[in-house]
Amino acid sequence: MTRDIAVIGAGVGGLAVATLLARAGHRVTVLERFAEPKPVGSGLMLQPTGLAALDRLGLREEVAALGSRIDRLHGMTHRGGTVLDIAYADLEPDLHAVAVHRAALHGVLWRAFAASGARIETGRHVTHIDEAGTRAILRDEAGATIGEAEIVVDASGVRSSFRAVVEPRAPRPFAYGALWASVPDPGLAPGVLLQRHMSARVMLGWLPVGRAEPGGPPLAALFWSIKPGEHAAWAAGFDAWREEASALWPPIAPVLAGLPGPEAFTPASYIQFTAKRPWRGRLVLLGDAAHATSPQLGQGANSALLDALALADALAAETDLEAAFARYAAIRREHVRFYQRASALITPFFQGDSRAMPMLRDQVFHRMRIIPWLRREMVRTLAGLKTGLLTHRDAARLAGLP
Ligand SMILES: Cc1cc2nc3c(=O)[nH]c(=O)nc-3n(C[C@H](O)[C@H](O)[C@H](O)COP(=O)(O)OP(=O)(O)OC[C@H]3O[C@@H](n4cnc5c(N)ncnc54)[C@H](O)[C@@H]3O)c2cc1C
Repeated sequence: MTRDIAVIGAGVGGLAVATLLARAGHRVTVLERFAEPKPVGSGLMLQPTGLAALDRLGLREEVAALGSRIDRLHGMTHRGGTVLDIAYADLEPDLHAVAVHRAALHGVLWRAFAASGARIETGRHVTHIDEAGTRAILRDEAGATIGEAEIVVDASGVRSSFRAVVEPRAPRPFAYGALWASVPDPGLAPGVLLQRHMSARVMLGWLPVGRAEPGGPPLAALFWSIKPGEHAAWAAGFDAWREEASALWPPIAPVLAGLPGPEAFTPASYIQFTAKRPWRGRLVLLGDAAHATSPQLGQGANSALLDALALADALAAETDLEAAFARYAAIRREHVRFYQRASALITPFFQGDSRAMPMLRDQVFHRMRIIPWLRREMVRTLAGLKTGLLTHRDAARLAGLP
């Protein structure tokens, strides 16, 4: 059955679901608020789950060729004590993540989207959706009709204004967000997501992300934990901050010395929201619009890709719309619930004002490694394989492992 489908937002989830649905023969139109769809921010980790999803889209190799293989997460305190040391190979030989620059991921998704037969209309800021019989009408701020479809997929990300239509509950903001920059990578920590912590108030992160485009220079994502209200004070004291960050991890000093100033960084704030029933009428939520959290466990983009597969599969399996949306929600429920809870639980240990939680973290987290079962569970959690669509064996198989 061919359907008219409108997708709001040309981000990770929007481009992936539009590509899958157009390939399945549906008439798909993406409406993107920006005149030129482009990713915001620096880099992200694609876990084995996200890589398996890209494999189904036929895009894994292209993304992996641009990105940087990550084998290990290594967190240390400013005094040199280990906070976390998680190696993917502890679960399955050769299991790994791939860190990518957002522009690289967007570029690969965009090319697949462009070849899929789906259309895009840019400079379209959807602000209202009205249902009229068997159609949904999409409108902009001026009330003008800018789209019409049988199904509307809200893939408008963390600031979605349509999630309130589906579930009128305010998201909960996290106390801390982060500043992110893309910087040249002189090869400071190959294969490692590196973090340096001082209590839970200070966190410096370094993630090698590969290249933004083929042939480009190798880059890393640099991140620094900060409260949303403190950006101006941080920017005013930028030189003092450079010294503070260099003291936390001395090898980074030459990279920081090469930065022009605070303008190299993009701020991000985080919220917690999980839709219990991610659809209403003809509107269905996907990606951050359906479930937003802090990126402490690095699952958001992976989850958006898994959502895209689940929604495409559900619409292929069910002709009735309500049944298709219920099926989509059922496929994703366990995985989403686990990771939303786990992210909310773990974030204050790494970003927060509590004194007790980071002390507990420094005493307990690393020691959990000693127990082989716990060590594997920690990897399984980070890898996105704790529950849901894929087991670690599926991911390993999709990764081409025996
Ligand atoms: C600092 C930071 C680090 C992160 N690190 C990781 C990581 O390591 N691993 C990971 O998996 N995830 C990570 N994430 C999360 C990840 O970025 C998101 O989960 C993912 O991008 C969500 O995809 P999405 O498609 O739902 O939304 P987005 O990718 O945000 O796309 C939303 C799109 O909708 C458009 N839009 C918004 N509103 C409208 C509207 N009203 N009308 C039309 N268009 C609209 C936007 O312009 C945008 O193009 C991180 C997030 C942050 C902030």
